Amino acid sequence: MSIARFPRRRYTAGMTAIERLDRLSEALGGPTIWIKRDDQLGLSAGGNKTRKLEFLVADALAQGADTLVTTGAPQSNHCRLTAAAAVKEGLKCRLLIEERIPGSFAQDATGNHFLFDLLGVESIEVVPAGTDLAAGMARIAEGLKAEGRKPYVIPGGGSNPLGALGYVACAGEIVAQSADMGVAFDAVVCASGSAGTHAGLLVGLEAARSQMPLTGVSVRRAVPEQTALVEGLAVRTAELLGHDSSVVAGTVRVDDRWVGEGYAIPTDTMVEAVRMLAGLEGVLLDPVYTGKAMAGLIGQVREGRWKKSENILFVHTGGSPALYAYRPTLAKGVPLA
Ligand SMILES: *Cc1c(COP(=O)(O)O)cnc(C)c1O
Repeated sequence: MSIARFPRRRYTAGMTAIERLDRLSEALGGPTIWIKRDDQLGLSAGGNKTRKLEFLVADALAQGADTLVTTGAPQSNHCRLTAAAAVKEGLKCRLLIEERIPGSFAQDATGNHFLFDLLGVESIEVVPAGTDLAAGMARIAEGLKAEGRKPYVIPGGGSNPLGALGYVACAGEIVAQSADMGVAFDAVVCASGSAGTHAGLLVGLEAARSQMPLTGVSVRRAVPEQTALVEGLAVRTAELLGHDSSVVAGTVRVDDRWVGEGYAIPTDTMVEAVRMLAGLEGVLLDPVYTGKAMAGLIGQVREGRWKKSENILFVHTGGSPALYAYRPTLAKGVPLA
């Protein structure tokens, strides 16, 4: 079935730009690096969840929902964008926050947590790492139903087959832009977390019979678990579209060497990547996802993985509001004159 048959809200006008990063490419002395500016998608401060929410919120509206319920970490970009979509559609929003790093939740935190407040989130429930989040959200939804409300539950990261359609659509944009620009990308690199981005791009590139190899840089799990997560979601997304799902089997590539001690825990290579992109290109990455994914790309360039003549596309999935919550780790301090 064509992706055009799925109900979709539109939160971004047109395609996001693909830009060439001349100064970064020159500094690294490797291939030409390009960036897909999904950090400039619509809704408050943009990022990849906006694409997923176009399909998820359309489904919620079709079902007559009045409240979006979702889950994420204390600095979740997905929770921020779900709250923004709710505002835009006149819906309410409830959040279940998983404190993945013990003690990391703070009511006076800045970054995305501050934006939950500004965007009018109705209430936040905080639970420890390892809590059954699906069950937690189901319980919140039951409570809302008992009050006569109509909740719609969105899984963490918006990563189910419907949400992944947002990145099937993104792959279509990349293929069209590549043809239009006359640039054949030799590789595409993205961050791989709850897997909707990685899986959606894989299915979309495959559907377009594109030869661009895709690598996901893991931000949390080791290769076997992350590969299984991406492959499982890619298969279900292909099935939702009625495509042959066997073609995605065995094609998932994950690099797990840039996670460091764990999800959302800073690494030196992340700090270097965030500061390089800001200082050389004026592009703001984030400390949890794109900083580590870009650290992976930089690391692979330094390993000599690509020829100087090749073109590599980095998908910037957003997240810059979280930078503010990591200021002590990232800032050097501007010298006072
Ligand atoms: C959620 C997120 C990702 C990871 O995308 P998944 O689809 O969850 O794998 C990458 N970058 C940013 C900024 C995110 O918020």
